[in-house]
Amino acid sequence: MSASDQLVYLDNNATTRIDPAVLEEMLPYLTDLYANPSSGYRFGMQARRAVDRARERMAAMIDCEPGEVVFTSCGTESNNAALNSALQFEPRGQHIVTTAVEHSAVSRHCQELQKRGAEVTFVGVDENGNVDLGELEGAIRPNTAIVSAMWANNETGVLFPVEKIAEICRARRIFFHTDAVQVAGKIPIRLRDMPVNFLSLSGHKFHAPKGVGILYVNKHSRFSSSVIGGSHESGRRAGTENVASIVGMGKAAELALEYLTDEVTRVGGLRDRFEKGILECVPDAVVNGAAARRLPNTSNISFQGIEAQAALMLLDRHGLCCSAGSACKSGSGEGSHVLRAMRPNDERASGSLRFSFGRFNVDADVEKALAIVPPAMDKLRRLSAAPSGSPVVTR
Ligand code: PLP
Repeated sequence: MSASDQLVYLDNNATTRIDPAVLEEMLPYLTDLYANPSSGYRFGMQARRAVDRARERMAAMIDCEPGEVVFTSCGTESNNAALNSALQFEPRGQHIVTTAVEHSAVSRHCQELQKRGAEVTFVGVDENGNVDLGELEGAIRPNTAIVSAMWANNETGVLFPVEKIAEICRARRIFFHTDAVQVAGKIPIRLRDMPVNFLSLSGHKFHAPKGVGILYVNKHSRFSSSVIGGSHESGRRAGTENVASIVGMGKAAELALEYLTDEVTRVGGLRDRFEKGILECVPDAVVNGAAARRLPNTSNISFQGIEAQAALMLLDRHGLCCSAGSACKSGSGEGSHVLRAMRPNDERASGSLRFSFGRFNVDADVEKALAIVPPAMDKLRRLSAAPSGSPVVTR
């Protein structure tokens, strides 16, 4: 039994365990089959075929053509590349419309682009995390180059109506990019009938390794690479392909399709049972985004009177892994910009935890979590209510 088998891992939106079948397909490309896929001899062509096969599997997962899949190093790179390209190609302007709840891979990049002269409108959300389509459309200007709106929020799991946003952008003849990093393997992605220009995915969110992702580039959309060098990926992303990880991500994509029903029913059932148990046992607990359409695996809960960082430490001591907001922000001391956007005047945001379930979670994880979380929250509340100076016992 490995050390991680002892954990109750409820942080699958941060990253997922590599599926053993994924690792198995990758291993030959880390050992014997090390050729460069651009090499002209048969050994190189073997690697090229493996990359092509992975491209087909990725395309099958999101229902697009293999030629529309561009391999990148991660979701962050894909998001950056889509925005950079749109600004370069849109002669009308330098304005971006995005939302107030995007992952930092979009929002920080937008802030950086602002410093370089671009204009950005961050459209807000309501208390359930929903975006108002009228407001989003109203933010589009004659000089808007691209709209970028995430498909599923990484902190709350709230889903944006990307099909409708895509239609708005098509009608206005503006590029549309969606960060679908949290969607892969959780709900279906069918791009064939959706007017999306660019879509980002990241392998490590669906049981492939870290450090590999894709950018879907619609075949009719003009695109210019952010990574300049060789003519890899048909000139859309330079750099020798990360063959083993690409092969692994291809296998993970195939498995994601197979497990899609399991994710919605079984994993969704684990999440629902956990949420119900918490709401029954912990007074004043509130599920953020509960009234919105949400991913089946994500539960973001505010616990009145609790500091999230203290809660994370205590839960960690009990072997339970979850996060406060997004994993990329932990340790930064910043509160969640997502929850602040949903309820600007609500101090409960500081006591919010994200629990995210996945393929390798089982019923026993819910039982263990329900045995750990309620007493931990109770203890933290008693500690924070105790007069300062009284002895504090933590375990
Ligand atoms: N977008 C979203 C919604 C995410 O949740 C993440 C990672 O947490 C990213 C982008 C960044 O992906 P990567 O870690 O592959 O750079």
